[in-house]
Amino acid sequence: MANILVIADIKDGVLKSSTAELLSKAKQLGAKTAVVAIGSNIESLTKELAAAGSDTQYIADDPSLALFSAGPYAACVVEAAKAFEATMIWFGFSETGKTVAPRVAVQLNAACATEITDVTLGEQIQVVRPAIAGKVIQRIKVNTQILVAVVRAGAFEATADISGTENAVKLSIPAADLRAVIKEILSDASGDIDLADADIVISVGRGAKDQAGIDLVKGLANDLGAGFGSSRAMVDGGFMAHNKQVGQTGKIVAPSLYMAMGISGAIQHLAGMTGSKTILAVNKDPEAPIFNVADYGIVGDLFEVVPILQEEIKKIRG
Ligand SMILES: Cc1cc2nc3c(=O)[nH]c(=O)nc-3n(C[C@H](O)[C@H](O)[C@H](O)COP(=O)(O)OP(=O)(O)OC[C@H]3O[C@@H](n4cnc5c(N)ncnc54)[C@H](O)[C@@H]3O)c2cc1C
Repeated sequence: MANILVIADIKDGVLKSSTAELLSKAKQLGAKTAVVAIGSNIESLTKELAAAGSDTQYIADDPSLALFSAGPYAACVVEAAKAFEATMIWFGFSETGKTVAPRVAVQLNAACATEITDVTLGEQIQVVRPAIAGKVIQRIKVNTQILVAVVRAGAFEATADISGTENAVKLSIPAADLRAVIKEILSDASGDIDLADADIVISVGRGAKDQAGIDLVKGLANDLGAGFGSSRAMVDGGFMAHNKQVGQTGKIVAPSLYMAMGISGAIQHLAGMTGSKTILAVNKDPEAPIFNVADYGIVGDLFEVVPILQEEIKKIRG
């Protein structure tokens, strides 16, 4: 039987939905489940972590862990993995997950697979992951006893009927990593919705031309409370910040609804958004590749289409 340890994704004291998604998948595989939660003032999350599908909760709660630091966080995960005799250790798709996973793999002499979209058990663990910007799908057989994996955003779904049992275990608090001391973490000063957290993401491409076009599409994003992203063309053009870029060399998003406005659908852009549940594209070129992945397509000029969408949304909302 597999023992799957999930790393809880906690932001500002709030448990993110990816934790329940990973635990749900682990339960569906028939695995024994545990979760490791690291931070300050997080012990109160134990009940929620159990409800999300874990049967053991390894907790490292200390003021020294308030700010993310790769060394100490990896030490906590390794201690939990050893105590639980984990055969798989799953991180959600976050910057912290991507940073800590390889450190944990080295310390446990484990294989490390990133961006996985599926797992199957059997004589050997097998994982599936996209490669070469999504051009090919790899199926990888794991030859080590333990696998450390970073799960791609939106790969698994949380199931409502899943629950666990409360069994909190305190981890020892690791010494600070003096090689790299994190003093402060600066968040995006714009106050914009984080693309990774947004249920709707609207991205703007070169079709929006300039700042006036960007402002128009941003108005629609504001109306819908959506995260506002961009293709690389608009970042390279100096119109949008790099942290708004969606794609192979930007962020990978998997919202319920992704709207691509004036984006052609280059493979590098698709690599960042095809995990979205529903995709709507607006493009004046009916042959634009984005329509190959879109669930809904509007062939038209975004300068005409966006105001119509805004008007219709206003009507629906009464
Ligand atoms: C190594 C590498 C990494 C990359 N990483 C990324 C990445 O992470 N993310 C990313 O996005 N790109 C990435 N790119 C760039 C990528 O190849 C494309 O160049 C880029 O995605 C194009 O952006 P775009 O679709 O906005 O622009 P274009 O390809 O120029 O497309 C603009 C689209 O807008 C349409 N249009 C024009 N006017 C209107 C209008 N008025 N109304 C409606 N539609 C209109 C056009 O028909 C066209 O389809 C990468 C490239 C490389 C080589």
